[in-house]
Amino acid sequence: MKIAFIGLGNMGAPMALNLVKAGHEVSVYDLVDAAMRRLEEAGARAAASAQDATNGAEVVISMLPAGQHVRRLYMGQPDASGLFDALEGKPLIIDASTISPQDARTVGEAAAERGLSYLDAPVSGGVGGAQAGTLTFIVGGSQAGFEQARPVLEAMGKNIFHAGEVGAGQVAKICNNMLLGILMSGTAEALALGVKNGLDPAVLSEIMKQSSGGNWALNVYNPWPGVMEGSAASRDYQGGFLTDLMAKDLGLAWELALGCKATVPMGSQARNLFALHAAQGNGGLDFSSIQKLYRAGE
Ligand code: NAD
Repeated sequence: MKIAFIGLGNMGAPMALNLVKAGHEVSVYDLVDAAMRRLEEAGARAAASAQDATNGAEVVISMLPAGQHVRRLYMGQPDASGLFDALEGKPLIIDASTISPQDARTVGEAAAERGLSYLDAPVSGGVGGAQAGTLTFIVGGSQAGFEQARPVLEAMGKNIFHAGEVGAGQVAKICNNMLLGILMSGTAEALALGVKNGLDPAVLSEIMKQSSGGNWALNVYNPWPGVMEGSAASRDYQGGFLTDLMAKDLGLAWELALGCKATVPMGSQARNLFALHAAQGNGGLDFSSIQKLYRAGE
């Protein structure tokens, strides 16, 4: 298929690469030229603009940081029109970014007004999952759009879920990431307590993995440097899932809770921890660097 892929960051670049490897004809665009050049070397076409990338595309996929970027890309801003007004043909629109359900619905409605099918399809699985093509896609949108998207998503992911109408994918993703934020900060807290009491972090990790404290953050994303080969912690917290993005997702969970009068005390605590950690200059590090917050004063 002819696919336009917009946003080639930590996640978008490996996802687009898997589409190329699967034999799709992929045109890519990112504000960062170097990101496009790497994909060009792998066989994608580097486009001159987002609009250029979508020329002749049957599917448009975006993987951008936050809601404001997605709204701007598709709907434009006061001084510039968005992609929806520039598209030739009627490609399927798939936004894989994590944004608020309300933003997804707003963009979805703007798409529908132009006769376009829009899916919110946030992902889980991290950079490792994006590279391996084993992401989980959590899709919101029509059944027909979901069926049309499935073969494309299968080139990038292993588990493809249909959560409901537009916005439902984001609701599920936000619940998941609120839990992940809680689990990562809890894991970092437990490791720091054990180490302060003389335990080796690798030994403690192994014990907790085989005990009732085992969880995804501990088992596959250990936040203590040197415990797990290949983890973000073992490469100075470079790359991965940025603290800024986790703080954003926990903010989305908070907004979602406000809107329906839900109580999220653990999620609020996690949001404050990650926001504080970001404010201390760690926003560009992987979110497992929350471990540093618990090691202050060492
Ligand atoms: P990133 O910051 O690494 O990449 C975002 C990319 O978008 C950058 O390359 C940036 O230059 C580009 N960009 C921004 N505005 C643009 C525009 N108008 N046109 C073209 N390109 C533009 O972020 P990421 O880690 O790849 O995450 C992307 C999304 O996926 C976020 O919503 C994040 O919350 C979500 N997510 C990330 C992970 C992870 O582990 N990193 C996991 C699941 C979900």
